[in-house]
Formats: sequence, C-alpha cells, structure tokens
Amino acid sequence: MDKVKRMNMTCIICPEGCKMEVLVKGRGVDVSGHKCKKGPLFAADEVLNPQRILTTTMEIESEDVHRIAVRSSAGVPKDKLVEMIGLLRKTRLCAPVKMGDVIIADILGSGANIIASSSVDK
Ligand code: SF4
Repeated sequence: MDKVKRMNMTCIICPEGCKMEVLVKGRGVDVSGHKCKKGPLFAADEVLNPQRILTTTMEIESEDVHRIAVRSSAGVPKDKLVEMIGLLRKTRLCAPVKMGDVIIADILGSGANIIASSSVDK
C-alpha cells in the first residue's frame, strides 16, 4: 500500500503565488489551495518530473570578455543540472558567438539545447 506524503508548495506560474497543499500517493497527486487549473499541473510536474531552466556562464576565448551567459532553451530535469553544468565547464567556446546560437544540442538527451544569451563578436 502506497504511503501518502503531504507537502506545502507555492505555485510560481503567475504572481498570485497560490499556497497549495499537495498529497502524493504513489504517482497520484491531489492538490488543494489553487485558484486555477495550472496549479495542479505545476504541482504534479514538481513532484513527478521537476524541471528548471538552466542559466549559467561559460568560458569563451575572445578579445573582449572571458565568459558568456548561456541558458537552456527549455526546462531540463532538476536532477541533471549539476551534470550539465559540469559538461558546460569542460566545453571550450571561441568567439564569434551570436545570441541564440546553439552551443550544445539536446544536452544529455534532455531535448533542450544550450543557447547563447548574448553575442560576443571577436
Ligand atoms: S494556481 Fe493559477 S492563479 Fe494560482 S499561482 Fe498558479 S497559475 Fe496563478
């Protein structure tokens, strides 16, 4: 028999910031305290498949700067963030890089690309 776990969670989808109570039983999620249907969807994702947008900086060989801001094109599994950042630390970049360039496609099979958040011309 599955044990029920009770969690308090704040929905961060909109500024309303609903405080929700979430009951987790196996892979089932029962949510209360939300003001719209996005709350339970957010809670289920947070419990069953938590994802985050990865934002960080990478070293770049250039005349002007030493680092460039990068981010993931979509949410990536929260439990893969450390491994992804380790991979980005080992990856060498050289200018020029344009904002939106794909630095690493489908990072660790997540389906998300790592893209440049700014441009470095030379
Ligand atoms: S449950 Fe709906 S109203 Fe509440 S914070 Fe989430 S998106 Fe906003």
